[in-house]
Amino acid sequence: MSKLTRSTEPNPEFLRHAIALASENARSGSGGPFAAVIVGEGRIVSEGVNSVTSTLDPTAHGEVNAIRAACKALGTFTLEGCELYTSCQPCPMCLAACYWSRLDAIYYGASDADAARAAKAIAHSALVKTAWAGSDPNWGRLVAALGYSGAAIDPQRIDIWFGALRICRDGGRAAEFDELAAHDYLKQPEFSIRIDLHQGEGSCVFWTTDLTTAYVHINADYSS
Ligand SMILES: [Zn+2]
Repeated sequence: MSKLTRSTEPNPEFLRHAIALASENARSGSGGPFAAVIVGEGRIVSEGVNSVTSTLDPTAHGEVNAIRAACKALGTFTLEGCELYTSCQPCPMCLAACYWSRLDAIYYGASDADAARAAKAIAHSALVKTAWAGSDPNWGRLVAALGYSGAAIDPQRIDIWFGALRICRDGGRAAEFDELAAHDYLKQPEFSIRIDLHQGEGSCVFWTTDLTTAYVHINADYSS
């Protein structure tokens, strides 16, 4: 979780609520996967979901809708003393709207940069790459790389798939994890691994390779 302005300690529960609203909004087809909640005195004052497509309003972003609803609920045009939690890093329009409404703080879910940090740590891990060279579905090494990636993570909310195979759920071994099927899947020349950190709407696609014995020999058999 990142913050743009000063405040007291953020409450991750409010961010989770915003992310859940965003997911539901996308599932229901009402708008994009974005939502925000405004909190005052420790309780939710308003919620806003992206309704650009359903209301034909390009300014109807989750944050703007939440600000409008909060001002209406509180009977004021200033939200001093309130904080905004939003599922994604706010766009310039919403950031400006937050400043105009004088919110005390903005907290947002993981950005694309967070997703890239997480993916890069896995893609560059020698332990992960050597496991892949042996078609070993060792997902603990992926979780370990996520741990030192510097990305915002909650170890109990990590989900991992190898292709369509669910491997890890809520940070633990998925009940349906089929080690043999996962092993076979990783034998392919190319495969995909999907990870959902449930920290926001940021995303990243990252390409990498495994690390084979031949690769080590090639690079060890000469000196430069
Ligand atoms: Zn926006």
